Amino acid sequence: MGLLALQGAVEPHARSLARLGASTLEVRRPDHLADVDALVLPGGESTTISMLLDRQELRAPLAERLAAGMPALGTCAGMILLASEVLDGRPDQRSFGAIDLAVRRNGFGRQVDSFEADLVLAAPPGADPFHAVFIRAPVVERVGDEVEVLAAVDGSPVLCRQGNVIVSSFHPELSDDTRIHQLLVAAVEAGDGTRPREVS
Ligand code: GLN
Repeated sequence: MGLLALQGAVEPHARSLARLGASTLEVRRPDHLADVDALVLPGGESTTISMLLDRQELRAPLAERLAAGMPALGTCAGMILLASEVLDGRPDQRSFGAIDLAVRRNGFGRQVDSFEADLVLAAPPGADPFHAVFIRAPVVERVGDEVEVLAAVDGSPVLCRQGNVIVSSFHPELSDDTRIHQLLVAAVEAGDGTRPREVS
């Protein structure tokens, strides 16, 4: 599993994935990307990560892998980067359009920097709520027809999936619960769309 490690909260994702038995590799350059079968785009500052994607020449190869169906999990800033439409972004900010969502940066309100909520998850099924931490989180303002909403807060989607792309407006890596990361592991194990590099 790759962790996009340009800026933001990378290490907690490695711990969550390690609990599920998945080994991780930090992705900072195009050749790193060639070695991974899935990618986590972490929280942080989407404008900064977007700028660093260009500086590291990662944007085009990552867009290509996403278009080829590589499983991806985007959390908070990562959700913004994967969305098809970004509201209140910087004028030069670009996103991958890997999931058909319109998201508004910091949409839960600038005054409310962070909050926590217990979510009922539609997948994976399980009776226990997921305790979710939101930090300057984006709000989903439009959901495309192909997108599954897997959890919501007051009717507002906070966990969505389209094919192999999973996004959350919260930070699942800050909870002990690994069910969101399990969705990514399951997408990799299902095997469709992954393109692991051939080892000769
Ligand atoms: N508000 C940040 C952004 O727009 C995201 C915050 C986060 O990732 N915790 O990129």
